[in-house]
Amino acid sequence: MEENNKGTRSSKYEKKSKKKVVLIISIVLLFLALLLFFLYYFFGGNFLEISKEGNDDVVEVIVFDDSVEVPNVTCKFFGKKVSKNELKMIKNIDVTKLGNQEIEYECKKSFFKKTISIKYNVVDKEAPVMEIDSQDNVSIYVGDEYKEPSVKATDNYDGDITDKIEKSGEVDNKKEGTYEITYSVKDSSSNESSKTIKVEVKSRPVVQSNNSGGGTGRSSNMSCGEAGVIYLTFDDGPNNLYTPVILDVLSKYGVKATFFVTSSGSDDLIVREHNDGHAVGIHTSTHAYNVVYSSDEAFWNDMNIVKERIERLTGVSPTLMRFPGGSSNTVSRHYSAGIMSRLANQIEEKGYGYFDWNISSGDAGGTTDPTQEYYNVVNNLSKSRGNVILMHDIKYHTSQAIDSIVKYGIDNGYTFDVLNTSIICHQAISN
Ligand SMILES: [Zn+2]
Repeated sequence: MEENNKGTRSSKYEKKSKKKVVLIISIVLLFLALLLFFLYYFFGGNFLEISKEGNDDVVEVIVFDDSVEVPNVTCKFFGKKVSKNELKMIKNIDVTKLGNQEIEYECKKSFFKKTISIKYNVVDKEAPVMEIDSQDNVSIYVGDEYKEPSVKATDNYDGDITDKIEKSGEVDNKKEGTYEITYSVKDSSSNESSKTIKVEVKSRPVVQSNNSGGGTGRSSNMSCGEAGVIYLTFDDGPNNLYTPVILDVLSKYGVKATFFVTSSGSDDLIVREHNDGHAVGIHTSTHAYNVVYSSDEAFWNDMNIVKERIERLTGVSPTLMRFPGGSSNTVSRHYSAGIMSRLANQIEEKGYGYFDWNISSGDAGGTTDPTQEYYNVVNNLSKSRGNVILMHDIKYHTSQAIDSIVKYGIDNGYTFDVLNTSIICHQAISN
């Protein structure tokens, strides 16, 4: 019995110690697992190192600039560089969007993982572009309406920002002076563009009641064309300096004129005269009296050079003609007796119309003063007949007088037209 009892006790003891061993092993394993976990959690990263070249500053990138330089990123596992496919970019920046962004790299080696990011700031430093349909300096006469130019603004990032344009300054068209109007616009990154237009409001020359200025002597009371119509005519051009100024004024008021051209000036100006709706007529090539009036044949040779020039540039065969010095000139007598009578007949036989004038602006010698030229014209205008005005677009003072002359005509109820072959405006031939 005793033996038996002993045996039972010892097997009980064995069972107990087996349990103890299992428990100890479990605790040791758990401890080892925890140790490994702590080692990985706190030090694991140090086995894997990721780094980049350069400092930690935010890199500035210009918006839409694709040539972003990415710093060299390296990843090492236990001091040894990992292979290329273990290091990769997982996040890139979008250069089409402004603001702070990051490029992110991830390095993966077995169950270790590390990331690094590079900070960028995408900025817009380009100012918007403003387009203003106006010259920098504009001048108007007191009382004239100042027409605001059309303004447009586009930005490389924001696109059309015309609605963000701010205007400062006003023009008082009732008061003489120089006014400044400034247009400015800012894009969403506060880049600014601005432009200033200077507007000069000038006093308009006043018509003097008793004017005895030069050049009016050649104006006459004969009728030329329809009553109340002004036929502006410009001889001797085109002139590269003054014809464009005159054309600008005519188009500003929307009035048409007749240009009697020679071989001078730029071809483009004749094209523009035609395209602007003006009439282009012949005034001979050389305009030299000793050439064109030396013989009938010499006249026609000279005249045809300009005829062909006009045809070549406008595609239209000219039918309007003005004799150098007018049909009543006496200078031609020195070169060929009776030539004006002969040429006037020949011209009409060939289907051309020739035109003199009943108002001389005096710009070819009577005056070089735009104000005087203005009086010479407006003081001789009449509503009861047509008004063919002799001017020269080769004269600076005419380019300065034309605005006031046209303005006066419009304000006083005249209309403007080009000459045509049904109009007769002939002075008395005296050779
Ligand atoms: Zn002439």
